[in-house]
Amino acid sequence: MLRSRYEAVIVGGGHNGLVAAAYLARAGRRVLVLERLDHVGGLAVSARAFPGVDARLSRYSYLVSLLPSKVVADLGLRVTLRRRRYASYTPVGESGLLVDNGDAARTAASFARITGGTDELDAWRRFYGMTADVAARVAPTLLEPLADRAAMRRLVGDEAWRDLFERPIGEVVDERFADDTVRGVVLTDALIGTFADPSDPGLLANRCLLYHVIGDGTGDWNVPVGGMGAVSGALADAARAAGAEILTGAEVLAVDASGEVAFRDAGGEHAVVGERVLANVPPAVLARLLGGTEPAPEGAQLKVNMVLSRLPRLKDPAVDPEAAFSGTFHINEGRDQLARAFAEASAGRIPTLPPAEVYCHSLTDPSILGQGLREAGAHTMTLFGLHMPARLFRDDPAGAREAALRATLASMNRVLAEPVEDCLLRAPDGGLCLEAKTPVDLETEAGLPGGHIFHRDLSWPYGEPGRWGVETDLERVLLCGAGARRGGGVSGIPGHNAAMALLG
Ligand SMILES: Cc1cc2nc3c(=O)[nH]c(=O)nc-3n(C[C@H](O)[C@H](O)[C@H](O)COP(=O)(O)OP(=O)(O)OC[C@H]3O[C@@H](n4cnc5c(N)ncnc54)[C@H](O)[C@@H]3O)c2cc1C
Repeated sequence: MLRSRYEAVIVGGGHNGLVAAAYLARAGRRVLVLERLDHVGGLAVSARAFPGVDARLSRYSYLVSLLPSKVVADLGLRVTLRRRRYASYTPVGESGLLVDNGDAARTAASFARITGGTDELDAWRRFYGMTADVAARVAPTLLEPLADRAAMRRLVGDEAWRDLFERPIGEVVDERFADDTVRGVVLTDALIGTFADPSDPGLLANRCLLYHVIGDGTGDWNVPVGGMGAVSGALADAARAAGAEILTGAEVLAVDASGEVAFRDAGGEHAVVGERVLANVPPAVLARLLGGTEPAPEGAQLKVNMVLSRLPRLKDPAVDPEAAFSGTFHINEGRDQLARAFAEASAGRIPTLPPAEVYCHSLTDPSILGQGLREAGAHTMTLFGLHMPARLFRDDPAGAREAALRATLASMNRVLAEPVEDCLLRAPDGGLCLEAKTPVDLETEAGLPGGHIFHRDLSWPYGEPGRWGVETDLERVLLCGAGARRGGGVSGIPGHNAAMALLG
């Protein structure tokens, strides 16, 4: 039985909405979460994507870096995030660059083989030493009221301020590194989910890089054991245990400045009043629910989920596929290849050689596969393709999806010793275990305006001091999702911050 009034009504049951609900309910507030789908988690979910195949794939987001340990501890979450032994592998001709978290000498030998000396590794260590220092300083501030620009500058120091916050990251990378492959590996963190030229003075790519290197004070990208659904499941459990009410199948139709929220479920249309309304939905969706409009942002990625009967063979005899695919496997992501793909996509064409990265979750956490698949040597493979803006898919969504998928698999096959198609598992119905999601698919299925994975472009982690970065023009309405300042990614940070703003 729903009440007619709550201290907080949360619009959307994505992971951030669940974090806000858990904190508020634990503080004794009456909380209602309204989620339009029949399940919670939003973009942090697991799915059995292929009929009859016992593999729980992280359908959208897949790695966790930004979720603070403090949130995990505060909410008593039973979540295990496992560090990957290998950070990345980048095929180069018949060889490749391996970054091995567990063997510094092997990493050094790989750099020497690919770059012809020690300069690039030295530059790499200096750059990531700087980002590690920024991570340790900035990450704790993400759960505090905002610092202003000057305070953030003092916090990170002159060198990091200049190279990460002021100069285009493309320029910085070109200056610090000489090797095209190494430059590209660094730049991918600036371009994930972000359609930008890293040399652009607008610094959008810098913001993207920053959030990719500061997560939880380390910047490590860890594997959520059990898949992304395990993270959202733990959050929903924590929220419910604290007394939050979570209603699925409840689509919010309108939000009023007074705090009234109109929604529809199987039983018809209803209204509840929240002293505060917390919007977990993207800002453009909130604008619509408030009766206005806001231009949709533009997402730019192709996500491909696969189940393989076996790992593909590599051209590089020195590296085991299990090592190469357990970290981030970079495909045609050299600096110049990234620039070419950006230029082609900006001109309205699917890139000739789409840059992408893949990783196999099941190599670090086999628990997402049923026993039969595990014993047969099957693996999940996740591909995240860059520079595939929504504009490419507007006119002919299905045809363009097919073309983008074909080009992306061909791009991958260029760096493998055999076509990945030969390694795809067939489901009992005969279909290949492969699904592709374009930005337009995400807009349609997941309600993401423009298919933008961070709800809108990422913002700097500083602002008006004393505020939480979740405020809107309306006193009773707060953002608690990825579109808030310091939001984006699986972090729970905007959920936490909205709860703190409410609790005062
Ligand atoms: C393909 C892809 C890959 C990604 N990979 C990663 C990754 O590996 N690591 C990472 O950190 N981040 C990744 N991200 C980004 C990350 O998933 C998101 O930024 C984050 O999950 C957003 O969480 P959220 O809770 O703020 O919003 P969402 O997860 O978008 O949740 C919003 C919720 O609101 C609901 N909703 C919408 N409209 C209404 C309505 N009218 N009424 C009621 N409910 C409504 C939605 O159904 C949804 O459940 C990825 C995203 C995508 C799409």
